[in-house]
Amino acid sequence: MLKISIRTCVVCRIKMAQKLLNRLQCKDKKLIAFSGIGRSFYICDSCLEDENKLEKALYRHCKNKDEYIVQLREILANGRQS
Ligand SMILES: [Zn+2]
Repeated sequence: MLKISIRTCVVCRIKMAQKLLNRLQCKDKKLIAFSGIGRSFYICDSCLEDENKLEKALYRHCKNKDEYIVQLREILANGRQS
């Protein structure tokens, strides 16, 4: 049987296969695509469209209220990381 890793979106708490979620992390209060080291978290595609919900959830993780939406757009522009 194929084993699928299930992860939870930190914004809406939906559970999905890991590969369908966007993996991000905060490093030095900056939001980046997961680098392979350190703590990370997952956000689903539909939550990426909802900046109000993102704001709350990302603030909990990054403590950087001003920049993360810009940083998120940069990450997405560089392609999905998983
Ligand atoms: Zn979500």
